[in-house]
Amino acid sequence: MINRRKFIRHSVLSTGAILLAQNLNARIPSTNSFPLVISTWAPNVKANKVAWEVLANGGRALDAIEKGVMVTEADPDDTSVGYGGLPDRDGNVTLDACIMDELGGCGSVMCIENIMHPVSVARLVMEKTPHVVLVGRGAFEFALKNGFKKENLLTASSEKFWKEWLKTSMYNPMDTMKHMKQKRAPGSIDNHDTIGMLAMDVNGNLSGACSTSGMAFKMKGRVGDSPIIGAGLFVDNEVGAATATGVGEEVIRMCGSHTVVEAMRYGKSPKEACQLAVERMYKLRKNNLNDMQIGFIAVNKSGEIGAFSLREGFNYCYRSGEGLDVVNDAEFLLKK
Ligand code: ASP
Repeated sequence: MINRRKFIRHSVLSTGAILLAQNLNARIPSTNSFPLVISTWAPNVKANKVAWEVLANGGRALDAIEKGVMVTEADPDDTSVGYGGLPDRDGNVTLDACIMDELGGCGSVMCIENIMHPVSVARLVMEKTPHVVLVGRGAFEFALKNGFKKENLLTASSEKFWKEWLKTSMYNPMDTMKHMKQKRAPGSIDNHDTIGMLAMDVNGNLSGACSTSGMAFKMKGRVGDSPIIGAGLFVDNEVGAATATGVGEEVIRMCGSHTVVEAMRYGKSPKEACQLAVERMYKLRKNNLNDMQIGFIAVNKSGEIGAFSLREGFNYCYRSGEGLDVVNDAEFLLKK
C-alpha cells in the first residue's frame, strides 16, 4: 500500500504549478518570500490553499489563517480537528482553539462543544471581549449569542471508532495516553493531528491559529496545548511565530511555542529555534517521552520558515510568494 505521506509528497499540489518530489528538499528556502502560509501536517495543503487566496489578494494574515483553519475544522474526515474529531472517553466532541494577531491580540476557547468553528469563536473572544479565554459552557453560549449554530460534531465513523475503543478500554487515562502513543508511532501513515497555521501577509504582518479536538478518548474536561497561548501558539510580530502539535501535556510543560519565538528573538533561525525547544523538552523529560511525538513549525520576520520534531513522521506544508505548495518532512531528534 502506498504510504500516505509519500503519496501526498508526490501528488499534492497546487493551483498553478507542481513541484516535483525530487526537487522538494532542494527547494526548501533558507529565505522565503512573503506572503506565506505554513501549517502542521501535509493534509492541510487544502487549508493553506484557502488562506493563500486571502493573502494573494492583499488580505490580512489574520483573515487568512481564520479562513484556512476553518477548512480543516469542517472536514469530517479529519478525526483530530472540528467536525468528525474523535470524542472524549464519554463520547463528547470537545474542541480547543486559539488565535493571535499582529497587534498582540489573542483569543482562545477551550473544551467548547457543538460549534463547528472554534477558531472563529476564539477570534471573537479576542475582538469582542476584554478577555483572552472562554471555556466550556460559557464559550458555547458566547458563540450562540454571536450567531453560531449548535451542531452535532460526532460523525458516524468517529462514533464507531469510539465504541470500538470502549470495548477494550479500561477507561483509564494512562491507557488513553498509551493509545495516543501508538497512534503517533513513527511510520504511522495517518499521523495528521492538530492544525497549527502561521501566515505572513504582503505587509509583512504575522498571525497564527491552532485548532484541535485534542487527544482522542481523553478525560472529560482535558485541555491540551493547542488553545493555550504560548504553548500551542505564539506570535510576536516583531520576531516571528510558532505553533505546535503532538502530545500537548509535554508542550504545555515547557511553554513550547513561546520558547521557539524567544529563541528566534535571540538569533536562532526558525529551524534552530524549533530544534532548541525539542532538545530542551527531551533533556527535561526523556524518561517520559517513550513513543510520543511532538513537532513545531516556525516563521521569522524575514519570512524564513523551519520545523523540527522529536521523532520521525512529522511533516508540514507551506505556500509562499512563488505560489507553490510544498510538503516536507521535518528533521527530528531521535534517530533510530
Ligand atoms: N496537541 C494536541 C493536544 O494535545 C493534539 C495533537 O496535536 O495531536 O491536544
